[in-house]
Amino acid sequence: MVLDVSTAAGAMTGDRYIESLRDNREVWLDGERVPSVPDHPAFRGMVNELARIYDLQDSDEFRDQMTFVSPETGNRCSYSWLLPRSSEDLKLKRRNSEIWNEQSWGQLGRSPDILAPHITALYAIRDSLGSVKHPRCAFGENIANYHRYCQENDLFLTHALGDPQVDRSQQPQNEQRNIIEEELALHVVEETSEGVIITGAKQLATAAPISNECYVSLSATFLRRSDPKCVLAFSIPTNSPGMKILCREPVSYGYGGFGHPLGLNYDEQDAMLFFEEVLVPWDRIFMLYDSSPLLAQLTRRAYFQGWPNLVRIHHRMQLMTAVATLIAEAIGVIEYREVSAKLGEMATCTEMWRHSMDGIEHNAFLTDDGLMSLGDMNAMNIFFSQMSSRMVELLREIAGSGIIMQPSEKDLANPDLRGYLDKYMRGKGVDVEYKSRLFRLAHDLAVSSFGMRQEIYEYWHGGDPNRNRINLLRNYDQDGVTERIKDMLSRPLANEG
Ligand SMILES: Cc1cc2nc3c(=O)[nH]c(=O)nc-3n(C[C@H](O)[C@H](O)[C@H](O)COP(=O)(O)OP(=O)(O)OC[C@H]3O[C@@H](n4cnc5c(N)ncnc54)[C@H](O)[C@@H]3O)c2cc1C
Repeated sequence: MVLDVSTAAGAMTGDRYIESLRDNREVWLDGERVPSVPDHPAFRGMVNELARIYDLQDSDEFRDQMTFVSPETGNRCSYSWLLPRSSEDLKLKRRNSEIWNEQSWGQLGRSPDILAPHITALYAIRDSLGSVKHPRCAFGENIANYHRYCQENDLFLTHALGDPQVDRSQQPQNEQRNIIEEELALHVVEETSEGVIITGAKQLATAAPISNECYVSLSATFLRRSDPKCVLAFSIPTNSPGMKILCREPVSYGYGGFGHPLGLNYDEQDAMLFFEEVLVPWDRIFMLYDSSPLLAQLTRRAYFQGWPNLVRIHHRMQLMTAVATLIAEAIGVIEYREVSAKLGEMATCTEMWRHSMDGIEHNAFLTDDGLMSLGDMNAMNIFFSQMSSRMVELLREIAGSGIIMQPSEKDLANPDLRGYLDKYMRGKGVDVEYKSRLFRLAHDLAVSSFGMRQEIYEYWHGGDPNRNRINLLRNYDQDGVTERIKDMLSRPLANEG
C-alpha cells in the first residue's frame, strides 16, 4: 500500500503535535513506563516549546517564511520538507532554518527541521536505491512516497544509525564488521507477506520519545556488514508494537524557572531503541540486504542536510559570544586586554562560521537529478566538533566563579537574604536579579547537566570526528601541491652553480 496522503493536514500545529504523542508509545524512564509523554515533567517543557514553534508555521508573521503550498494537495507544508531545485529554494530553506533556530537559541540538535533533510538526501539517491531489486518492494518508489507522506503530514522524525556499544574490539572503522557485533545489531528475522520482522537494538536516537517516526539506517561506520540480514534502512511510527524506547536521565529537571532557562525547555532526550520482532511494512523499507546505494552516497558529494545544522551552530555560537560579552560588562572586566581578546576569539569563530555558510551557499550546484545541493561542507561539521569545546572554555574563563555562585529565585524572594544579595551579589550597574539570571544562563550553556550534554552532543553527533577526519583526508586532493613540493626538492638550490 502506498502511504496515503489523502487526509494529510499539512504543516504541523502545536495541538496536533501534542495529540500525536498520545499514541501508547512504549517509552521507559528511570525504570518506569511513561504513561503520557506530553504530560510527563521530563518531556513537558520540550514538547510545549516545539508546539509553540509549530504554531508559528500558521501565524501571520511566519506562515510565508516557514511554509509553501504543496502543488499536489494544496496543503501548506513546511519548508523543511521542500525539495530544493534552485538557489532561491535554498534561500527559502535557510530562512526557515533561521526561524527554527532563532526560536530555540540553536539548542536543538535534532529538531524536526534537522531530521527532514535526511529523507531528502535519500530521495536524491532514489534511482540508486531502486537499482537494488527485491520481489516485494521498490526501494526508490518507497522513498519518494515516504518523502511525500512526511511532507504532507509534517512528521517529526528521529534517526538511529549505530549498533549498541557492547564490544568494539573487532570493529575496524569503515571495514567489514565482525560476526559478534552482528548478533547484537538490528537484523531481519523473517520476511512475511506484510513486511520484514526485525530484532536487535540501536544506540542511539535523540528525540525518539517525542518523535512521530523513527528512521533507522546505518552510519558510515556500520555500513559494511558481513551478514546481509543486518543491512536495512526503513522508517516506522514511534508507537510500533515491539519497539521499546529507553531514555537517559533527563537534564530538564532543575531548581527554579530561571535556574535552567535552556535545560527546562530544550532537553530533547536521547534514547536506546530495542526492537523485539517488530514488523516493518514493505512500503516503509528503503534498503535491504545490499548497502551499495548508501556506500555510493558517501562519496557522492551532494549536501542536502546543510542549513538546519549549520544555522543551528551559528545561533549557538552567537548566543555563547553574546552571553560572554554581557557577563564581561556585568562584572566590569570587558576593558581588560585578556578578556577582550577572548571575546574577540569567540566573535572570530562565529564570524568564520558565517563566512563559511555564505561560501557553501555560493558554491551550491544542481545535481544530475535536478535537486539543488549546497557546496561541500564536510570540513565545517568536523571543525565545530572541536571548536564547540573551545567556546565553552572561553565562556567559563571569562565568567570566573560567578558562573557557579549565584542566588536562586527563592533566595531572591526571601527578605532575610535580599539585603545581602542586593549589596554583595549585584554587578557593575546591574541589579542582583539581572546578574543572577544572566550567569545562570551561562551556567546552563557551560556547566549544568544540560550544558554538558550539549557539549557531548556537539562532539559526537556527526559520528566519530576521527573517522570523519580520516575520511576527509582520503578524499582531500593534494596532488598538485605535493607534486610541486617534490619538484622543488628535486631542483638544485638556487645559489648552487
Ligand atoms: C548526545 C548524543 C546524541 C546522539 N544522537 C544520535 C542520533 O540522534 N542518531 C544516531 O544515529 N546517533 C546519535 N548519536 C550517536 C553518535 O553518532 C555516536 O556517538 C558516534 O557515532 C560514536 O559512536 P559511539 O558512541 O558508539 O562510540 P564508539 O564508536 O564506541 O567509540 C568509543 C571510543 O572508541 C574509539 N573507537 C571506536 N571504534 C574504533 C576503531 N575501530 N578504531 C579506533 N578507535 C575506535 C572512538 O574514537 C571513541 O574514542 C548521538 C550521540 C550523542 C553522544
